[in-house]
Amino acid sequence: MSAALRDLYQEVVIDHSKQPRNFRKLEGATRTAEGFNPLCGDQLTLYVKLADGVIEDIAFQGAGCAISKASASLMTAALKGKKQEEALALFRRVHILLTEGPSGAVKPEEVGKLAALSGVWEFPMRVKCATLAWHTLRNALEATGSTQ
Ligand code: ZN
Repeated sequence: MSAALRDLYQEVVIDHSKQPRNFRKLEGATRTAEGFNPLCGDQLTLYVKLADGVIEDIAFQGAGCAISKASASLMTAALKGKKQEEALALFRRVHILLTEGPSGAVKPEEVGKLAALSGVWEFPMRVKCATLAWHTLRNALEATGSTQ
């Protein structure tokens, strides 16, 4: 990864952690799930409004480190208007990117703006911070209850 790209990704993460998008309680949510990452103390509540299998609206609240907030913010921004299956497919791609890194099976450009999180794979302790919102999303969509 070039230094310029790395700087750009870092700027995106800082921007989303300082001004998280969709950071609110969602009235009329059809699914809600709680997520907690005990390694770091990150916690979040995810609200999803599903209509005919499409994520009509999505929002979150919670407290956590910059990575967890930026990840939830980027995720909600990316998923609005997406079909449930598309959201889960994106989760799988992001998960591979975060665990294998940019030279793994999934290239950063395959996940759009979420590529900004690709530097996290170099810090295994932070991968759970970045995937917390996604695991919570999967639980919300599959309605299996709490995360982990
Ligand atoms: Zn964290």
